[in-house]
Amino acid sequence: MTFTTTITAPDGYKINLNTGLFINNEFVSGANTIDTVNPATGKVITSVQAAESKQVDIAVEAANKAFHNGWKTSDPRTRARLMHKLADLVERDANDLAHLETLDNGKPLTNAKIDVQGVANYFRYYAGFCDKLHGKVIETQGKLSYTVHEPLGVCGAIIPWNFPMVMLTWKIAPAICTGNTIVVKTSEMTPLSALKLAQLVKEAGFAPGVINILTGYGHIAGDALARHMKVAKIAFTGSVNVGRAIMKAAAESNLKKITLELGGKSPNIIFDDVENLDEAVFWARFGMFYNAGQVCFAGSRIYVQEGIYDKFLEKFKAMTLSGKVGDPFAADTFQGPQISETQLNRVMKYIDIGKKEGATCYLGGNKVGNAGYFIEPTVFTDVTPNMTIMKEEIFGPVVAISKFKDMDDVIAQANNTEFGLAAAVHTSNITRAVRVSNALEAGSVWVNCYSVVAENSPFGGYKQSGIGRENGDYVLSNYTQVKAVKINLSSKL
Ligand code: NAD
Ligand code: MG
Repeated sequence: MTFTTTITAPDGYKINLNTGLFINNEFVSGANTIDTVNPATGKVITSVQAAESKQVDIAVEAANKAFHNGWKTSDPRTRARLMHKLADLVERDANDLAHLETLDNGKPLTNAKIDVQGVANYFRYYAGFCDKLHGKVIETQGKLSYTVHEPLGVCGAIIPWNFPMVMLTWKIAPAICTGNTIVVKTSEMTPLSALKLAQLVKEAGFAPGVINILTGYGHIAGDALARHMKVAKIAFTGSVNVGRAIMKAAAESNLKKITLELGGKSPNIIFDDVENLDEAVFWARFGMFYNAGQVCFAGSRIYVQEGIYDKFLEKFKAMTLSGKVGDPFAADTFQGPQISETQLNRVMKYIDIGKKEGATCYLGGNKVGNAGYFIEPTVFTDVTPNMTIMKEEIFGPVVAISKFKDMDDVIAQANNTEFGLAAAVHTSNITRAVRVSNALEAGSVWVNCYSVVAENSPFGGYKQSGIGRENGDYVLSNYTQVKAVKINLSSKL
């Protein structure tokens, strides 16, 4: 059975795609199918195969074989060459990948193109690590001890829909550069770009079974992967609740290692001594409304010092209104739709709760148009610490803004959350910038900017925002285990 199809984007661009499960370098049948929807129209784009536990077993077996039959002990230079080749192919087919991402996820095509370049950069960056994975030499009481950083085996990954291609790459690249093989389960809402990447994996020349990509539902295929006895590690990005379920599945099966990248409610603090208020406004708006607010590190709590509060609001409103909400294929669109009707309704419910609890809906608050899942960028002011919209992750274009008096007061408010993914501070005072950065309980702190995420700098959460770090050389320890070998140097028995 073949699963080839041609997908036509609204701008007439055509993409050939295989919608089978990618196991052992072949596209194969699942147990079922899933329809995937274009969130800008609400219409079905195509259907893809859905894996269930049987297909998960087959994929894990393929990955296990590939690990033991060569990838584990492969020449690091071979791994690097393959990863560079994959990066080249991603750049060659950038238009296909970007169109699929926009069609399936709803993000503006301009943003999808940035994501694709990020994918290529990411594979190249980790290609460079393949031959730089060193242990240590330690002398202990006449014994020579050295460490080897060995791969874990078959790694599993479960990824979300908000940055499908980027999240796929964040899992695959560090896993394979360290000599592991991998089975990834994509989000049921955005399977398409990953299937295109699967074609490129095959074309790049990876051995069958090194990279396997499954489409399927979370509670079925995701759960089977998280519980699999031959999966040595799960890397997960998604919601806190599913993160908990995965931790539980690991505990109830083989105690596989887990890393979790979860949600956030990140504070963005603007002091009244900012050198350039327009720049602070730019970063605050960008940090909140990019990707229709569907960003785990979105700066969704903005704290503005009282001296500039009114001026900030005025400028923030003007900048927010300047962003076009609509067709993601239009070159001038800033904000596309939410991912699904469920998410649309969820966000609208939070807007309703915000109003009912007494916050001021300063801007937006409504759906846009009749087709698709669009929401106006929405700004709430007079939001107090106990209000739901100040505490819970909304994962949509809704921001809570509040006024503060002084540094100690705002640090306490910023840290008053169960999350700790990211935070930002805007000030021209270097001492204040460092003091606040040190005091913030967050895995990333941005000073006078927002949303700066790079392949070579660690990313991850404090508190309930996650476990472990991705990116940079920090992620490598998640994909390797350390063996200490001790050699007796004494001739005496
Ligand atoms: P989600 O947790 O519902 O789904 C994430 C993935 O988990 C999907 O592939 C889904 O199929 C799978 N899944 C669902 N139930 C499962 C189960 N029982 N067992 C195994 N897998 C299961 O999240 P989402 O709706 O895709 O994404 C939105 C959430 O993800 C937000 O809360 C957001 O903050 C978070 N997120 C975090 C980061 C980060 O880097 N920290 C990045 C993106 C998204
Ligand atoms: Mg979709």
